[in-house]
Amino acid sequence: MKTDRSGEWRSGELLPFGNLELSPAAGVLNYGQGLFEGMKAYRTQDGSAVLFRPKENALRMISGAKRMCMPAPSVGDFTAAVKSTVKANVRWVPPHGKGSLYIRPLLIGSGAILGLAPAPEYSFIIYVSPVGNYFKSGLAPISLKVETFYHRAAPGGTGGVKTIGNYAPVLKTQLDAKDQGFSDVLYLDAAENKYVEEVSSCNIFTVKGNTISTPETLGTILPGITRKSIIELARDMGYKVKETAVTVEELLDADEVFCTGTAVVVNPVGSITYGDRRVTYSDGGVGKVSRALSTSLTDIQMGRSEDKFGWVEQL
Ligand code: PMP
Repeated sequence: MKTDRSGEWRSGELLPFGNLELSPAAGVLNYGQGLFEGMKAYRTQDGSAVLFRPKENALRMISGAKRMCMPAPSVGDFTAAVKSTVKANVRWVPPHGKGSLYIRPLLIGSGAILGLAPAPEYSFIIYVSPVGNYFKSGLAPISLKVETFYHRAAPGGTGGVKTIGNYAPVLKTQLDAKDQGFSDVLYLDAAENKYVEEVSSCNIFTVKGNTISTPETLGTILPGITRKSIIELARDMGYKVKETAVTVEELLDADEVFCTGTAVVVNPVGSITYGDRRVTYSDGGVGKVSRALSTSLTDIQMGRSEDKFGWVEQL
């Protein structure tokens, strides 16, 4: 779908996957005026394909678009476009339990603009790709490195929206961490270098006794849809959940740590390295809270248990 600055979208069309034709002066190429979403379609046991909370992705794109001075498709247009793209590719939704169809909606400033200003035209594009299960056999704990020099987001910046530029600073840190044998990087706040923020593409949670804590969304971390779902689910399962400032010391002192995101759903953290300190959780295995939350959420997403929150949507 395309629009000018008015935000009146012209209806889109389904095209075979291929290259885009874009002006070299497009706002997205020069000034990073772009947002994206990540979502998944799952095959349920009865063979139908379903989406998980698509309205939440639409709302997050709308709020990001305000920050990035872009018109966004309405919740209705966003979900209708996602559904028709998945329907047209439904044969690519893997069988139940064998993976999912990853869906990537993109909103970009496609019009040409030379001076620093919002682009005159915008494109909303969706592409999809089948992906396997993140964990081939059971949950696999990851090792995180706490990054103390580089930051992914600054107060007042764009860390709270899913804009493409947020991912540029993590390329180097993620690569360096992988070279050093870690799975991923955990970022701290840029102001004090003391509070935990998030991982390159996941939110983070700590467990201490019956209390689960996760950093508040104050504009420097992404308000993850899996994060929101885990908070609701954990409260429903009887845990006390706090959205609060989490210090590195509290993190290192936790009983369990796990990450959440569309790709991983729930990913247990086996160890965290902070400078020359290394802490192992649940003997490097999968903690019981991480496992319980992972099972409950994936069962809802894949239609294996009752969807009492109304999160699963048919195509
Ligand atoms: N933080 C960042 C930086 C991310 O890229 C993602 C993935 N979208 C998340 C958190 C998790 O968000 P969600 O649960 O909506 O996938």
